[in-house]
Order: sequence, then C-alpha cells, then structure tokens
Amino acid sequence: MPISFELPDEIVNQTSMVRMLAEQVMRSISRHYDDNEHKRPWEFINVIWPFIQQIEAADLKRSLKRHEGNGAGEPASAEAEPKEKKASTGNLRMIHMIEALSWGDAGIYLSTPASALGGAAIHAVGTREQKERFLTRFTRGKPKWGAMAMTEPQAGSDTSAIQTTARLDPATNEWILNGEKIFCTSGSLAGKESEGLIVVWATLDKSQGRAGMRPFVVEGGTPGMEVTHLESKLGIRASDTATIVFDDCRIPFDNILGSPELSDPESHEDKGFKGAMKTFDASRPYVAASAVGIARAAFEFTRDTLAAQGITVPECAPMHTLTAVQRDLLQMEMDLKAAWLLTLRSAALLDAGQSNNLEASMAKVKAGHAVTHITQKCVELLGPLGYSHELLVEKWMRDAKINDIFEGTGQINTLIVARRVLGYSRTELK
Ligand SMILES: Cc1cc2nc3c(=O)[nH]c(=O)nc-3n(C[C@H](O)[C@H](O)[C@H](O)COP(=O)(O)OP(=O)(O)OC[C@H]3O[C@@H](n4cnc5c(N)ncnc54)[C@H](O)[C@@H]3O)c2cc1C
Repeated sequence: MPISFELPDEIVNQTSMVRMLAEQVMRSISRHYDDNEHKRPWEFINVIWPFIQQIEAADLKRSLKRHEGNGAGEPASAEAEPKEKKASTGNLRMIHMIEALSWGDAGIYLSTPASALGGAAIHAVGTREQKERFLTRFTRGKPKWGAMAMTEPQAGSDTSAIQTTARLDPATNEWILNGEKIFCTSGSLAGKESEGLIVVWATLDKSQGRAGMRPFVVEGGTPGMEVTHLESKLGIRASDTATIVFDDCRIPFDNILGSPELSDPESHEDKGFKGAMKTFDASRPYVAASAVGIARAAFEFTRDTLAAQGITVPECAPMHTLTAVQRDLLQMEMDLKAAWLLTLRSAALLDAGQSNNLEASMAKVKAGHAVTHITQKCVELLGPLGYSHELLVEKWMRDAKINDIFEGTGQINTLIVARRVLGYSRTELK
C-alpha cells in the first residue's frame, strides 16, 4: 500500500494542541504522580475529558454505521466494513495523540478516561445494541474508564490457560462469573465507578481451549466483582493497575460479546479468541506510539543537553570520524524513526480497512526494543545526572519497559511476526 506522509490539517492542529497540554500540564505534574503512585492526576483527567468525549462520539458513530441495514442484535455486516473504513483517519489521529501525550508522561496518559481496551473489544465484536448501551456513556457526563481483564495468575502470554469461568443460570438468564484477574490497567477506576466497564475474558468450556473463551462486559460496581489489590510498579506509576476477583458475579445474558453457541461453526473461535486478536491489532499500534513518545522525550532531552556541552553530530561526516557518543546519538535517532515509521504504517493499514496483524506486531516489537534501548542509553550518556531523581530521564527509563510487556511481550509479538512471514500456524511454531 502506498503511504502518504502528508497529514490532514485536522491531525496537525490536534497534535499541536496535545503537545501544548503535554508540555504545560503533564510535564509539570509528572514527578509528583510518579512519587505518589496511587493518587490520580485529576488536573489532567478533567482537562482531557471533553476532548476524549468528542473522539468517543466520532468512533461510536463510525462503528454504528457498520451495522446499517442490520438488526440491533446482529454484529456488523462484513461488506459495510471496508467501504466505511476507507475514508477513516481515526487510527492515524490516535497514534499522533498518544505519541504526544506519552512524550508528556506515559503513566498519566494511561490514566486518560476513555473506553480504552474494553471499548476496542466492544467495537470489534459487539452488536449495535451493545455498542449503544455500553459506549454512549463515554460521550457524556463525568469522566469514566473502560478496561480489559484477560491476564490471570496462571494465564499471561498463554491465553488458552484462562481459568475464569462463565456459567449460565437458566433460572434468571444471567451469566455467573468466577475467577481472578491480575494487572488490569485502569481496573480500579473502571471497576469501582458505577459507569465504568471491564471486558472480562472467561471460559464457557475449558475443554475447548481458546474456542471456549468469550468476552463479557461487567459494569462498574456490579456485586460480586471486587478490586482486591493495587499494584506497586517499576514505571508508569501514575497508571492504575488492579487485581480483580469475581465471586459469583452475576451479569445480564446480553453482556456476552459474540455468540454463546460454542458449536456454531460460524462463531466457533471467531467471536472468542479471534475477537481478542482483532482488539490487539487495533491497540498494538497505540502501545508502539506510546513507546515512541517516551523514547522521543528521552532522546530530545539528551541530545539538547549534550549539544549545550558542545557535543553535536556533524552532518554527512564519514562514520570513521565520529566519536562513540555521536554514533550512539545517530543509532538512537535511527531506531526512533524506524519505530515511528512502522507505527504509522500499522495505523494507516487499519484506517484503510486492511489487515495489519503482521505490521502491528512488527511496530510493537521494534518500538518496545527501541524505547528500552534509547532510554537506557540516555541515562548512560548523561552520567550521574541521568540517574538522578532531579531529572525525568531515570523515570523515562523505568516507564519504557512496560511497552515490551503488555499487549503481547516482545517475544510473543516476534513469534507472531515469524509465523506470518514464514507461513507457520500457531501449532507449528510456538
Ligand atoms: C503494568 C501492566 C499493565 C497490564 N495491563 C493489562 C491489562 O489491562 N489487561 C490484561 O489482561 N493484562 C494486562 N497486563 C498483563 C500483561 O499483558 C502480561 O503481563 C503479559 O501478557 C505477559 O504475561 P505474563 O506476565 O504472565 O508473562 P508470561 O506469559 O509468564 O511470560 C514470561 C516470559 O516468558 C516469555 N514467553 C512466554 N511464552 C513464550 C513463548 N511461547 N516463546 C518465547 N517466549 C515466551 C514472555 O515473553 C516473558 O518474557 C499488564 C501487565 C502489566 C505489567
């Protein structure tokens, strides 16, 4: 697919506004919320919320359009998708915004009130009725959060090991959820707030592995769902990361995303595991963009600090004349740009209605490695200053690593790339 590097005015204007917010609001509170892990950055949340509501409303409108001609309880029609997606720049707009916000502070960016990963799952596999019921709330009222709970103590990369169960009570026509989810981003904000929601992955039949899994929407404050622990973390400390226990948690039958029929050949695996993968194809470019934002923050600061000391990279100089520090700076800039180009490509494909499964994983792997390497190098090049609490460089190094862990670790995404490039199936290459 040919790529145009020209951005629509709308994205350019939005990005410059977000950059201002990142510089003036986020940077000034960055250290405070790193030092005070379980406090929430309301001064940022309240400023960003009106803007997020507009994005949520536009996303919902676009998502509902895919159901035109369908009943409210039916999934989006396959033909409606590519036609509608062709004109979209929604993902390109999002990655520019996320990159700029993460340049400001990645942990605070992750505290943004939004439907987030929970919303992405509903957009991917929900019916029109479910989208209206669950996502309209993000277009109005006070700030609220969505989350996705997949990881469990025994199930991280291997999602087929999920133990949380969903059982139908025929007497009340409700699902009953039981199990424990860990490391859920915004889990406490989404789970405790009455208008928040968490998309919880549970199994209807453990013997069917991935094919038995389904996502369920659990609304904040539902009895039987309890936030039992808040994580203390290395980085992105402003972000809320929760353990959530489901103890006979009852939810309406219509809160299942996708068909409850496991034997239905049409829905077999499709609305379960493949639904989750569709969500990750959309969100991995966002994680890559966040990684690029942190890397750019560290790189720009280090480059400018060294420049003030007279250390710059000469243009067009032969490699053998460069110092080790100059070569480091060049390598860092090259990695940063390569990661950003892959991120742009993965988002542009999605906007064009094309599959980006391979490109989303490529971007995530490259950006995860680049941000880890670049931020460590920055601490190294700045010497004791880089390691000091006085600057944010040591914080950026701690914030970086998560991008190589959540939404598929570097190893898992490398595995996905290898399978796609070499033409192996999940069982042939694991
Ligand atoms: C701050 C934070 C926020 C998170 N937010 C969420 C969230 O909102 N929702 C959610 O559901 N989860 C969330 N997670 C969980 C995250 O997605 C998992 O940590 C991740 O999927 C890895 O799972 P694991 O930690 O169990 O590691 P494991 O799967 O146990 O892996 C351990 C190591 O082995 C490697 N490995 C595993 N399998 C293979 C393989 N086949 N080949 C090569 N290497 C392999 C991994 O790459 C990793 O390095 C979050 C985690 C953190 C730390």
